[in-house]
Amino acid sequence: SFLPKLFVISLVIKIFAFQLITIMKRRALVWFRQDLRLHDNEAIVEAAKHADELVFCYVFDERIFSGSTTWFDFPKTGKFRTQFIIEAVTDLKKSLRKLNADLVIRIGKPEIELTKIVAETKCSWVYCNRERTDEEVKVQDALEKNLWAQGQEIIYTRGKMLYYTQDLPFPVQYTPDTFTHFRKEVEKLVPIREPLKAPTSLRVFDLNISLGKVPSLEDFGHESFEVDTRSAVPFKGGESEGLAHLEHYLWETNLVKTYKETRNGLIGADYSSKLSIYLAQGCLSPKQIYAELRRYEQQRGSNESTYWLFFELLWRDFFRLMGKKYGNRIFFKEGTLGETDPKWRNDSRIFELWATARTGIPFIDANMRELAATGFMSNRGRQNVASFLVKDLHINWQMGAEYFESVLTDYDPCSNWGNWNYVAGVGADPRENRYFNIIKQAKMYDCKGEYVKLWLPELKLVPEDKVHQPDTLSFDEQTKYSVKIGAQYPKPMVRLK
Ligand code: FAD
Repeated sequence: SFLPKLFVISLVIKIFAFQLITIMKRRALVWFRQDLRLHDNEAIVEAAKHADELVFCYVFDERIFSGSTTWFDFPKTGKFRTQFIIEAVTDLKKSLRKLNADLVIRIGKPEIELTKIVAETKCSWVYCNRERTDEEVKVQDALEKNLWAQGQEIIYTRGKMLYYTQDLPFPVQYTPDTFTHFRKEVEKLVPIREPLKAPTSLRVFDLNISLGKVPSLEDFGHESFEVDTRSAVPFKGGESEGLAHLEHYLWETNLVKTYKETRNGLIGADYSSKLSIYLAQGCLSPKQIYAELRRYEQQRGSNESTYWLFFELLWRDFFRLMGKKYGNRIFFKEGTLGETDPKWRNDSRIFELWATARTGIPFIDANMRELAATGFMSNRGRQNVASFLVKDLHINWQMGAEYFESVLTDYDPCSNWGNWNYVAGVGADPRENRYFNIIKQAKMYDCKGEYVKLWLPELKLVPEDKVHQPDTLSFDEQTKYSVKIGAQYPKPMVRLK
């Protein structure tokens, strides 16, 4: 009778020990934000290092998606970016499922929803990418407070930039204010770290809470739409799409080899990398792009174009660092420089003509139509329409920046506001007066008027030499080319310098 007793006792001990281990298992929640990817995701790697079991979560912030507006009353997130994020979240969920994990999805305030999930799933920590811009910081601070009240913690990770701030040869507050100076200090001296590998397995547990479902565009008050056949970014959101696009741009088509020559193009998907849409939501990590670019250079050779793609990615880091250095000043009218132009007005009537592509300047209107129809505009276009708004129409540049924030698929707070600071001349790098002569630019970058005609079909019969200034058409020419200036196409709202 001694042996069965021993057996029972050992069984009881085993069960108890198992339960104790289960109870003591440390759990962490990974909160995805603008890092909708598995590769090079420090939050996942760190959480997996420190916790035994993981929960993954994305919250559609109701303040960003559900009908709220910006200061000047534009929808906070337009339909193109909303759709892109929905696709990216769907893709992320799929990828997590392939690893036997899943994505918990909520609509609400992240600081409230996550606090609840953390309590329900008995997590000790929330791991997330640290954001540095005002709205995002407020959310993470509020979450941190709520977690502290429950005896839990937030652990911040990095992954937005090519460089790690601790690798830079200067403290953030001494980041050079001019891009060239910044570039020279980093590009040859600071190594870019290898991207972190995507996990191949994940330790998860039976969640026992509702997973929630991926919302639709209609849930956020937008109507579903067809992608415009003229779109320069006819791509879907998500890490898988982003990685496939990178593969396409580098390895499948070698488009990167001619980037420097084509990057000022205006039509189609190929003239520039179109990586911004994936970078903005973190579907691609900049380090991953850099690592692929280096691999490409080693295998297929480097040239000015391959360097130039890296050069452009440095601009992104530069604006992010300006955001870190100057904080909310990038959003202020006087910018990081601290100066404004007394001529800048908040004139919504004039602004409306610009935003709705009725300025009577074809190059501006074509770009603004493209933006409204697709959520994208080339870099050349952005510089021109921004300069026109600020320098020719004398409108407060913040209105333009907010409109871009609303509509752009690739909206990124630091890149958008930093570039607007720069064009308006209130940025940290005010070297030159960035006035763009719109007609000259139009003739240089759209010499045959193909771009303008693509977006303004009412001008399609106008000959090349007049298409950028249709107001110079004589009455007879207007009849001949089937466009009445002032009726089918507006007269220019200003006389350009
Ligand atoms: P490519 O020419 O292929 O460049 C490669 C990458 O380099 C881009 O994906 C981007 O990540 C980076 N890059 C290139 N130029 C810049 C730049 N000037 N500043 C910062 N990064 C750059 N870019 C955004 O990602 N989000 C924005 O919200 C944004 N707003 C802008 C607003 C204005 C007024 C202006 C003038 C520019 C803005 N840009 C913004 C920068 C630039 O226009 C876009 O990054 C670029 O057009 C995206 O297309 P691409 O990926 O094909 O770029």
